[in-house]
Amino acid sequence: MIDFNIAPFTGKELEYVRQTIDAHKICGDGQFTKKCNSWLEKRFKAQKALLTTSASTALDMAAMLCHIKPGDEVILPSFTFSSTANSFVLAGAKLVFVDIRPDTMNIDEAKIEEAITAKTKVIVPVHYAGVACEMDCIIDIANRHNLKVVEDSAQGVMSTYKEKALGTIGDFGCYSFHETKNYSMGEGGALIINNPKYNDAAEILREKGTNRSKFFRGQVDKYTWVDFGDSYLPSDMNAAYLWAQLEMADEINENRLKTWNMYNKAFKPLEQRGRVELPTIPEGCVHNAHMYYLKCRNLDERSRFICFMRERGIQCTFHYVPLHSAPAGKKFGRFNGEDVFTTRESDRLVRLPMYYNLTNEDCSFIIDSVSLFFKNT
Ligand SMILES: *Cc1c(COP(=O)(O)O)cnc(C)c1O
Repeated sequence: MIDFNIAPFTGKELEYVRQTIDAHKICGDGQFTKKCNSWLEKRFKAQKALLTTSASTALDMAAMLCHIKPGDEVILPSFTFSSTANSFVLAGAKLVFVDIRPDTMNIDEAKIEEAITAKTKVIVPVHYAGVACEMDCIIDIANRHNLKVVEDSAQGVMSTYKEKALGTIGDFGCYSFHETKNYSMGEGGALIINNPKYNDAAEILREKGTNRSKFFRGQVDKYTWVDFGDSYLPSDMNAAYLWAQLEMADEINENRLKTWNMYNKAFKPLEQRGRVELPTIPEGCVHNAHMYYLKCRNLDERSRFICFMRERGIQCTFHYVPLHSAPAGKKFGRFNGEDVFTTRESDRLVRLPMYYNLTNEDCSFIIDSVSLFFKNT
């Protein structure tokens, strides 16, 4: 069986986790958390990076730091994971879904402005498959309407847009280090803060509402409860696990890109014959091979494709059910304008196995199987 995903593992994880145990320092913000935070800051030229327990909680923090109030509106694509929406629902916002572009499956920047009302507070671009949204256009809209931008960069660690790391372009960026992502700590994430005016508030929010971070830096002589907060910091054991992967981030990235490029090259002839559609990487975007997907002609063909691949021992999967058509999406949001592409394109999309160290043999077998399916149908 060729799995759809196998969590990345480099071999150093156990040694680093053991170091935290030996030092009796397994709570949050230990040496490995600090290493990870400063790696993210240096590598991505981020003003501030804070590890969190997930991208979901990084998004929760971002929504709270944007001071969302009940009744405020937030603009996001419907083609995304529930977490993108939940954080803003938690803060009391109404969701306003906007259609996607069929080429990248990202929010259609040309349809954002018509969704803005007097209540709009935030735009949440989701960088699907680690391929950037049109950030210049989105930032321009946000500036003109005085809106915040929270990048859901859960899939975008190591991707760039016009040489800027995804997550560092809006007001906040949210990364995921879940087991299904390019770099993993089991469950985990990071909040990227791009405006220093939020640094103190973010630290307090993440540390149960206390100014404990300031205390540890010697900036205050005792720490106390200063504002509302929660606990969003992961154990240093998890950070140690992640550190083993960040140390090898380039190798993991190149390995995934090699697989991605093998797929893409092999399927070009199918695309030229009009048999499938392949992902588009727009000018100025460098991606991280988070995902490889194909688009079949329709839902029926996709179902047959997934069965065909499963019979050959290859696990392929579809992706999101558009949020606006899900029960919670109906309850918490509305779709602005017409759903031209969201449902149609999500029905046709299928993802192929993609993970660090997928072997050449497995990759070739997957390619042969895909070619065989589309030859026979
Ligand atoms: C994975 C993912 C999330 C959630 O990440 P967690 O770390 O599991 O909370 C949110 N948004 C998108 C687009 C994702 O792919």
